[in-house]
Amino acid sequence: MKLTRINILIMMSIIHCSSYAQKITKVNIIDKLNEKYKFTNDIKKYMVTYKFTAINPYQSHNYKHPEDKINGYGIYTIEIDRDEKEYFTHDRSQFPGNFVFEFKHFKNNKNAVSYDVNGVIRGKRLKQLKKDAFERQNKRAGEVLSFEKIADLLNGHKKGDDLKIKFDKNNALATITHTTNDNVINTYTFDIETLKLVTLKSTEDNSIVDYKNYIVKNGFEYAKVSVENFKKTMGISPSKFAIPYGYALPQSNQSISSEVNKIADNIYLINTNNNSRFILLKIIDNQIMVFGAPLSENVSEKIIDSIEKKFPMKTIKYVFVSHPHNDHIAGLVPYAKKGVAVIADDYTIEAIKNYPKFKETIKSFKFKTISNKERINGVRFYVLKNEHSLKQSFAYLEHEQIIYEGDFLEVPADNTIPTHISNVEKQFIEFVRSEKLNVKRIVQHHRNSNVTADVMNNYYNANAN
Ligand SMILES: [Zn+2]
Repeated sequence: MKLTRINILIMMSIIHCSSYAQKITKVNIIDKLNEKYKFTNDIKKYMVTYKFTAINPYQSHNYKHPEDKINGYGIYTIEIDRDEKEYFTHDRSQFPGNFVFEFKHFKNNKNAVSYDVNGVIRGKRLKQLKKDAFERQNKRAGEVLSFEKIADLLNGHKKGDDLKIKFDKNNALATITHTTNDNVINTYTFDIETLKLVTLKSTEDNSIVDYKNYIVKNGFEYAKVSVENFKKTMGISPSKFAIPYGYALPQSNQSISSEVNKIADNIYLINTNNNSRFILLKIIDNQIMVFGAPLSENVSEKIIDSIEKKFPMKTIKYVFVSHPHNDHIAGLVPYAKKGVAVIADDYTIEAIKNYPKFKETIKSFKFKTISNKERINGVRFYVLKNEHSLKQSFAYLEHEQIIYEGDFLEVPADNTIPTHISNVEKQFIEFVRSEKLNVKRIVQHHRNSNVTADVMNNYYNANAN
């Protein structure tokens, strides 16, 4: 008696499973997906929070340990209102050494602007956003949500004629290939039984995303690729569209020049990449010492070109780099080709020697290793162990009382005082004070070529307790 009952139960469950599986065929899978994902059409207002951790050795504290906790990550919240075509986004990125770069931006019926929450990068300058700001953020939010990717497929295809559907041998996985109007090929792999998206390949950016760790939260099932939270909302709170006190659009665009400008006797400044990077030159008789080699070979070629035009009779002898992050070293090759020696601390040199992009050219590099407090041609170099990069150094032009630094200080171009100070900056300022360096001017590699000692001290005093 008992046995029979169990058999019937097993039979019933087999019938149930198989009939469910049989239901999904190449012919009806799109209808079934439409049924399951119908709810996406009702999501007009929502909020999504996601996290992104980039593993990048050459933005890490130690290039050998990009996985360390000290390294950077970003956490982003996007609120979308598709009915009103409004959005509000909060982007917060953290970099080693406790640098926090934080922006809020929004578009409503009045404004489309962004501002720098801590004022570290842009100070109090508001930025006007482009006309398609809503569309861009709407797309961006959809990128992280598995069901939104499926909605793209279901709403984007034309009656199946642009779709190719294949089932694997075991009828476990279905592959649906969709060629879009712009000839982008998106290949979706679904688990046939659950109709969950497993993988999406796209030729648009040659990406392959695995959608795994499905969770149900706030009544929605989604793959937790990087999503921390998702919920429907009633719309975006008006308070999110307020511009905080003190922020304003800049009067006019600063003039952009990459000319070689004299700032002291035998000291010149080059401004590159729209005022975002600064290179310093020190002339010593017929030789030139260059400080900073950012971004790319292209950038360096232009800089070398303007140096050679300005000083046709002189040769570049040295180029100094502060630490081995890719945005600070990627311009070294054109210098190496000219036989210019790279000045850096031992850790930075070791990292440069292992930089994958220099694999072909590294043999042509010449190096000059500096130790802490070493003095070369009137420039005192300081090498500090710090939280941003295992070692980072800065240059102090003793006679001129000018500091050139890479990622030790991040005061914005308008010299307003940020509301967050990183651990690295604290350490740097404390060090400058303890060494009793007289400073007339700090040339930041980033964004601000003229930070006074007063501004530096005000920044410290306003934030360090
Ligand atoms: Zn850095």
